[in-house]
Amino acid sequence: MLKIPFLNFTPMHTAIKSEMQAAFESVYDSYWYIMGEHLTRFEEQYANFSKTRYAVGVSNGLDALTLALKALNIGAGDEVIVPSNTYIASVLAVSHVGAMPIFVEPDKKTYNIDPDKIPAAITARTKAIMPVHLYGQACEMTAIMDIAQQHGLYVVEDNAQAHGAAFNGKDTGSWGHVNGISFYPGKNLGAIGDAGAVTTSDETLAEQVRMLRNYGSKIKYENEVIGYNMRLDELQAALLSVKLRHLEEWTRQRQQIAAWYDEALAGIGDLILPFTHPNATHVYHLYVVRTPHRNTLQQYLKDNGIGTLIHYPIPPHLQQAYAHLGYQQGDFPIAEELAETCLSLPLWIGMVREDVKNISNVIKGYGKPRV
Ligand SMILES: *Cc1c(COP(=O)(O)O)cnc(C)c1O
Repeated sequence: MLKIPFLNFTPMHTAIKSEMQAAFESVYDSYWYIMGEHLTRFEEQYANFSKTRYAVGVSNGLDALTLALKALNIGAGDEVIVPSNTYIASVLAVSHVGAMPIFVEPDKKTYNIDPDKIPAAITARTKAIMPVHLYGQACEMTAIMDIAQQHGLYVVEDNAQAHGAAFNGKDTGSWGHVNGISFYPGKNLGAIGDAGAVTTSDETLAEQVRMLRNYGSKIKYENEVIGYNMRLDELQAALLSVKLRHLEEWTRQRQQIAAWYDEALAGIGDLILPFTHPNATHVYHLYVVRTPHRNTLQQYLKDNGIGTLIHYPIPPHLQQAYAHLGYQQGDFPIAEELAETCLSLPLWIGMVREDVKNISNVIKGYGKPRV
């Protein structure tokens, strides 16, 4: 039987293995493993890639967002606006600094936070808006920045899924005052373990994040603030530098695979395909389709050797971790509908047109009256 996993690192990691091994050896033989030249080099390269003045390497994406909020002095008594359909990490970062997440529904077509619904959620306590470029599509950043400016709010982009996407030609991760990215292995730029970064063009904020990630210290054994150990180590930085050289090519491949899906899946029953805002680019961290028959379609694909995942099955407001906020089913109907109907199809570097054809044929064979 045909077997196509949801994610397969083999082609990508085989192709770059010798480059990665050289990077490993360079760190291993340097005898310097934390806060050294590989980190500095990667930070310069990533800042250059994201078109920001600074990139500060940190331990992971959740910590990047937490440090971004912390650097802005957001904490107890403050509110931060987040989309109601995001990955839990965006919301956790808000909670970890002691602030309150305020959910705003996404646009039903792009799945990104709906700028028109943001003003109604703003109160005297609102400090920031955290747009999330979900699945790899840039949010409507022009409108979001305008709203933030009118109300004197910060913007913190959660750019964990959209390395290299853009809105109106300006890159994600370069709009907000201070922004977080993840280099979790499965992200478009993935480490060989946990890693993340904060991007900003504000020197003071970059300095603050650098201090906070390293025990609140600029000079060894002198601690200015109560910081954390949330550093990016030399090994991950060196490996990320190798992968960064390939990222643009990989993004083109992702967009090609998505285009093949768009063509092969067009007009099948009630299947809803991804929609890209005309001013946005999409780097397809995920290729997400929707159907009311999601669960049975997923099972059918599984029975036919095709791996899929659901991003995400339970919206943050209905998670047990946030039960104390008192939300109920029906409070954010768009997020709830997306959670019940979305399905992420296989998309990985090295997939060929034949794979997309085979997957699409299985979907077509699922049963015409249903999908
Ligand atoms: C992956 C992800 C994060 C968290 O990144 P980690 O590196 O896994 O901590 C945050 N937000 C979104 C939208 C993500 O997809």
